[in-house]
Amino acid sequence: MQVLSRQLHKGAIQTGKTVLEKYSYDRTSQMSLPQAVIKAHSEVEVQSILRSANENMIPVVTRGAGSSLTGAVVPITRGIVLDVSDMDKFSVVKQDSVVIAEPGVKTSVLQSAVEAKGLFYPPDPASLEFSTIGGNIATNAGGARAVKYGVTRDYVRGLTVVLPDGQILNLGGRYHKNSTGYQLMHLIIGSEGTLGVITKSVLRLIPLPPYTNTLRVMFRSVETTSEAVTGIFEKGFNPNTIELMDRVSLEIVANDLDFNLSEEHNAMIIIECDGTDKTQVDQDLGTIAALMQQKGASEVVIAKTEKERHIIWNARRSVSDALAKSAPNKLVEDIVVPRSKIPVLVQEVRGIAEAHGLAIALFGHAGDGNLHPNFLFDLKNPNEIQKVEKASKEIFELAINLGGTLSGEHGIGTVKRQFLEDAVGTNVLDLMRSVKKLFDPNNILNPQKIFPVENGKQDKAGFLSDLPFNSEYNDIVE
Ligand SMILES: Cc1cc2nc3c(=O)[nH]c(=O)nc-3n(C[C@H](O)[C@H](O)[C@H](O)COP(=O)(O)OP(=O)(O)OC[C@H]3O[C@@H](n4cnc5c(N)ncnc54)[C@H](O)[C@@H]3O)c2cc1C
Repeated sequence: MQVLSRQLHKGAIQTGKTVLEKYSYDRTSQMSLPQAVIKAHSEVEVQSILRSANENMIPVVTRGAGSSLTGAVVPITRGIVLDVSDMDKFSVVKQDSVVIAEPGVKTSVLQSAVEAKGLFYPPDPASLEFSTIGGNIATNAGGARAVKYGVTRDYVRGLTVVLPDGQILNLGGRYHKNSTGYQLMHLIIGSEGTLGVITKSVLRLIPLPPYTNTLRVMFRSVETTSEAVTGIFEKGFNPNTIELMDRVSLEIVANDLDFNLSEEHNAMIIIECDGTDKTQVDQDLGTIAALMQQKGASEVVIAKTEKERHIIWNARRSVSDALAKSAPNKLVEDIVVPRSKIPVLVQEVRGIAEAHGLAIALFGHAGDGNLHPNFLFDLKNPNEIQKVEKASKEIFELAINLGGTLSGEHGIGTVKRQFLEDAVGTNVLDLMRSVKKLFDPNNILNPQKIFPVENGKQDKAGFLSDLPFNSEYNDIVE
């Protein structure tokens, strides 16, 4: 550390208790104190930090905003937390339809800036007000608009990455097509800080659709909702959003926001269409509204003003915080299945919740088959932890058996690492381990994330009990 402190600006290495505590957690309630926190301000500093950590075999966990929902950013093997959130410069290159961004830029800041120039960066994780572009790339973040526009990966055109030995990789660039050898850039996207540190990205921009409108549909049963979603695609529509909330989520949000929820409304979907032609967008939304009524909707509301759009979205945007406030602890899962399997998934998750006597709120991106079962429980109650472990395992198995997988957008981190082999198979897992060794032979970058812990230290049955959860942690602290 002394060698390193001479290379960095004064006060760069912080070891005070308050700072270490601030960097000990993400949004899963897991907590583990690092030994030091270093804020990097440039690529050269990132190089020095990694080189020194690599020579001294010190673990490094790169951190953007720390909004991970998987334990990915919790320093479970201690070492250094490398905070890159101050590396937040970016510039829009309009003639090439790209934005060049450092990793610490907040997603919403970048989006507003490009929209002011008539351009559009569509990936919209619900955490966009605080998450960073580097974190979004490292988790391949998705969002509500992914159903039409795709996820973060679809917008990355170039990356600069620092490897543990300080080497710099320049991958891709300011161009929109690339068939030049292996696309190593795509290995970095979604690698959760285990292969290298992203110091710069080139992101694709598209023209901003000038008109968007929103439809809220209430249903008597969540299963009918799922069939209605499939119907939208069968009729050839391409909405930019199809978000689902079940009764459990709606009740908790209604309680938190203090609005009345009718007895007959057991599920809600929000559908949004956008485009360049207002008449066409309104026409599409009107036809989808009629289709929803045919599919058994109990209420259909098309927003007439921006204020009405805001009111419709408020319920969906408030769900994470409302759920967090409703129970001592919350575990957010993130599974994805083929869209046609959503009705079975929803039914089975309900069955699993009932069988274990657990509160599981279900919401998410129904248009992508990507739903978030949210377990509401108390970490101080070992019996409840056991039930959550069993139910999560059953839900993961269910998703895989339905032809889906473990994560649509949040990644693996620590909370799903024991199930990775079930999802990808032994040979793929072995190849992933080999890739990790090639990039990071000393295993200093975010160790013990993504990959199952070997030697039976953590088994599937007790995968939560073995993690450093802290039941005192309040999930909604910023
Ligand atoms: C309320 C709420 C809503 C959310 N909604 C969504 C959603 O809709 N869609 C979605 O996909 N996710 C969502 N998330 C999860 C989370 O916000 C995303 O995973 C986000 O991409 C993480 O960004 P971050 O800057 O907070 O990264 P962090 O949490 O700091 O880090 C996440 C991972 O990325 C790595 N990392 C960060 N920066 C770099 C870098 N420069 N180089 C290499 N590795 C790096 C870290 O080591 C870690 O493994 C939500 C979270 C919350 C709390």
